[in-house]
Amino acid sequence: MSVYLVGAGPGDPELLTLRASRLLARADVVVHDRLVSEDVLALANLSAVRYDVGKVPGLAHSQQRINDLLVALAQDHDCVVRLKGGDPFVFGRGAEEAEVLIAHGIDVEVVPGVTSAFAAPLLAGIPVTHRGLSHGVTVVTGSSVAGSHVDFSRLANADLTLVVLMGVQRRSAIAAELIEGGLAPTTPVAVLEWVSTSRERCVRCTLDELGDTSVQSPAVLVIGAVAGLDVRSVESFASHWALA
Ligand code: SAH
Repeated sequence: MSVYLVGAGPGDPELLTLRASRLLARADVVVHDRLVSEDVLALANLSAVRYDVGKVPGLAHSQQRINDLLVALAQDHDCVVRLKGGDPFVFGRGAEEAEVLIAHGIDVEVVPGVTSAFAAPLLAGIPVTHRGLSHGVTVVTGSSVAGSHVDFSRLANADLTLVVLMGVQRRSAIAAELIEGGLAPTTPVAVLEWVSTSRERCVRCTLDELGDTSVQSPAVLVIGAVAGLDVRSVESFASHWALA
């Protein structure tokens, strides 16, 4: 009895690790989140039993119920694959699930995945770090849990790239706080929806336009000078070097 906590990447099965694909092929049971794509699930062993424990914001399979289900399944099956979108330890509550399973004496292996935080900008042609433009990258959640959320005014730093997951709903407040903290209202922003799936969409705007820009979840927000680049377009780089 083992539970494999596996990162499913952002959507495209080509972005799975070999380990993830091999485990899916021999899984007895697959327990997955809402954001795990059908294309990835199609790689699961045909006889594997599937559980969709996707949490639609507001409604829920509570985390407690998911933990209980994993413990029960682990007791009855040899190979339980718990599939999580992106990387299991990036805002996936994967560590909480691992803790519960280990406390029940169940073997757990965690398999890293390609996180949407980095895959999204890359696939849109945005380098999250870039010599002369961005010295680093901060990944944060934009969501509010029980009224508490990140104070974005403290994250305003024109030398760094900000990648915000779960930030669509609060994007207006996030932009206002960043501007209050000192980021220029003209700072480039890219909003990357449904990355690496057939529903993929990339919307570019400036920070002061973000609140009024129509975008949908799931999306990754990229904020900072690099969000104005697109490595696929020579012009975007030419304009940067002309300014530098
Ligand atoms: N563990 C995941 C993140 C889970 S939190 C990871 O490493 O990617 C869920 C948030 O991730 C979404 O609200 C969205 O901000 C982002 N996300 C996950 N998959 C995405 C995708 N294919 N396209 C855009 N955003 C995605």
